[in-house]
Formats: sequence, structure tokens, C-alpha cells
Amino acid sequence: MARASDPPEGAERRRTPRKRTAKLTMRMGVGYDSHRFGPGNAVRLGGVSIPHDRALTGHSDADAIAHAVTDALLGAAGEGDIGSMFPDTDPANRLRDSIEMLALAMAHLRDRGWRANNVDVTVIAELPRIAPYREAMRDALAAALNLARASVSVKGKTNEGMGWIGRGEGIACIAVATVVPVAS
Ligand code: MG
Repeated sequence: MARASDPPEGAERRRTPRKRTAKLTMRMGVGYDSHRFGPGNAVRLGGVSIPHDRALTGHSDADAIAHAVTDALLGAAGEGDIGSMFPDTDPANRLRDSIEMLALAMAHLRDRGWRANNVDVTVIAELPRIAPYREAMRDALAAALNLARASVSVKGKTNEGMGWIGRGEGIACIAVATVVPVAS
């Protein structure tokens, strides 16, 4: 016989009391950057100088990986972008080391209560080849972000010869980053 305390027919009975769960706030951001090739003998990517028959041109050292990662982290925290933090109208940013800018952006996020959780980067370039420099890039990025190498991923892709990347006019980079509260 049904009792008054029974759930209505068809309703799911809750077998265990609802647990209090710790609230984890993780936020994700995406960053994109591209730079054009110009005269030179090395490209700077992910804090690593790679010998090449051209260089990437830009106001700073044109490190597209560092720029995309910076934007991904700033985006994750809702803290603007690299252009607003390091304007190219400021002479101090000319030829500036982009890993230094990344570290400064990370310090700003820490002041706001965030730490980096992980970073994943894809570089799209016909040349130079990324793979031989991947581990050095992971180390440079991880050091700037106070992360373990295992939390930083760098991958290289060609554009299969298509479009401006395929013609070797420049390279592009996409980064995704997650941040979590410093206390977690
Ligand atoms: Mg850039």
C-alpha cells in the first residue's frame, strides 16, 4: 500500500543525498596570430630561434606562437588581448622578446587570481619544420607560464600547399589555453 511519503508514481526516487561538490572554475581561451615572412636567416617561434632562409616580420620579434598563447591566456581570463597590453605604438615593444611579454601577461593574470592550467598550440607553416624544435619550445613556454612541460603542447601542420601559407608568404598559429583560480 502506498504511503504519503512515497514519491509519485513514475518519479525517480533519490537514493543518496545530494553531495556538496567543490566548485571548480576553469576557463578556456583561444588565440590566433599570423606573421609574414621577410628577409632574414632565422625565425623566432615559441621562444626558439630556428635557422631559416627568411625571418618573420613584425613590430616585436614576431613570435607567432608566443603571441597566440598570450592571447589565449588573456582571453581565458577575460583580460583583453596582447595588442591592448603591449601596443605596437609603444617604442618599448619594438623587437621585444615575446616570451618576456608572455611572462608579463601571465604575471598580470596571477595578480587577477588566475594561473595557467594547460596550453595547446598548432603552428600552420610549410617551412620551417616545427618537430625538431618542439621540445625546446615546450620548455620555453612552460618556463614563462610556470607550467610543467607535460601541460604545454606544440604541434606543427603544413597547409598542404594551399593559399598564402602554402605559398610560403607567412605562417599562422592557433592556441587554446585554460586557466584556473590560483588557489586550486
Ligand atoms: Mg603577432
